[in-house]
Amino acid sequence: MFIKKGLARVIENSRREKTIEISLKTLKGTFIASAPSGKSKGKHEVADYNERGIVWSVKLINQFLEKLTHKNLSIRRIQDLEILDKSLHDFEHSFGKIGGNARYTLESVILKAAAKEDRKELWQFVHDSIGSGPVKMPMPVGNCIGGGLHSVGIKGKKPDFQEFLLIPNEKRFSTAVTKNIHAQNYAKKLVRRKNKVLFLKRNDEGAWNTGTTNEETLDILKEVADKFNLRIGLDVASSSFCNSQGYYPYKNKELFRDRLEQVEYMKNLIEKYNLFYVEDPLNEEDFSGFKELLAQVSGKKTLIAGDDLTTTNLKRVERAVKANSINAVIIKPNQIGSLLEVMKVVDFCKKNKIKMIFSHRSGETMDNAIADYAIGFGADFIKTGIYGPERLVKLRRIMQIEKEIF
Ligand code: PEP
Ligand code: MG
Repeated sequence: MFIKKGLARVIENSRREKTIEISLKTLKGTFIASAPSGKSKGKHEVADYNERGIVWSVKLINQFLEKLTHKNLSIRRIQDLEILDKSLHDFEHSFGKIGGNARYTLESVILKAAAKEDRKELWQFVHDSIGSGPVKMPMPVGNCIGGGLHSVGIKGKKPDFQEFLLIPNEKRFSTAVTKNIHAQNYAKKLVRRKNKVLFLKRNDEGAWNTGTTNEETLDILKEVADKFNLRIGLDVASSSFCNSQGYYPYKNKELFRDRLEQVEYMKNLIEKYNLFYVEDPLNEEDFSGFKELLAQVSGKKTLIAGDDLTTTNLKRVERAVKANSINAVIIKPNQIGSLLEVMKVVDFCKKNKIKMIFSHRSGETMDNAIADYAIGFGADFIKTGIYGPERLVKLRRIMQIEKEIF
């Protein structure tokens, strides 16, 4: 792959925050990648940018890209990113860290260009690199109603839980997406009625903003799920409200739970609402709390997923799986800042039969690469929201791939 030119710049994401975009010109065309940004971030995620900020990272990347200009880079498989990694490591040693968002974006734009060089789609390039068996479409996990750090609430109230999710079980991805859209439209009526308001706002991820309690919101979600034959999921994102002593001070309804009460509460909600999926039910350091919950619900086939717990970090995923803390894991490439690391996590999850949910971030861009990574790496689910241009572009990409290959 002959690199004619590369350029990094600062753009705005869906939340109007600054993020990084890199364009790369080769003999086969111009390729663009950008980074998403989290708000309820795990403590163990890598830093997004250099300690001097995003502008400094952009400056460093442009310096690095200059070194690659008019050179040939041989990237025939995703594993070949090691070549880039080595020179980036040396570069960082002399000039400073570029950060996880910058590194992920750089790797991603290079893979896009490398796939084209090989006359492949990005998903296919990844799939062929890791020899991951028959291609399958992930099921969409849609964010219907929101709370927590992603929402502003109504009349000073909002659910403590961050995401109230709908998960179809369909043969086709496109049918599943249509169902989620209809279901979210129906949910609007119920959320409006319960909040006694005429208009509803959407939150960071396009989910309905509400002032209802956690249980009231789950009641609404259950009504929606029953009507459309959907499964219910929750991203509790409990680290975002758990305090430093490991207690859970709930605001809506006001209640103070210790960690064992939190395990009990989660178990009761799983039973009462027949929850299919629960993400981060306990604090990001509480591997044993996750384990207790998983043991109590293991007969139900509920997925207990780590996100802030695991942060797409192989060591933390290994620890969680070996401790029987999770049976599913969120994969967000920019949490670890490298697609090579994602590859290792995927390999481990496949060997240990851990369900993989590839995920967007709450601050998103129009880059749809996560759709290709989900398919290429063989994800079981993809969490990208239901509404908004930055979310729909990813869903459409999977629908397009599905149309082409099935
Ligand atoms: C999440 O917690 O799953 C999430 C998408 O949030 P954020 O991107 O804000 O970390
Ligand atoms: Mg999460």
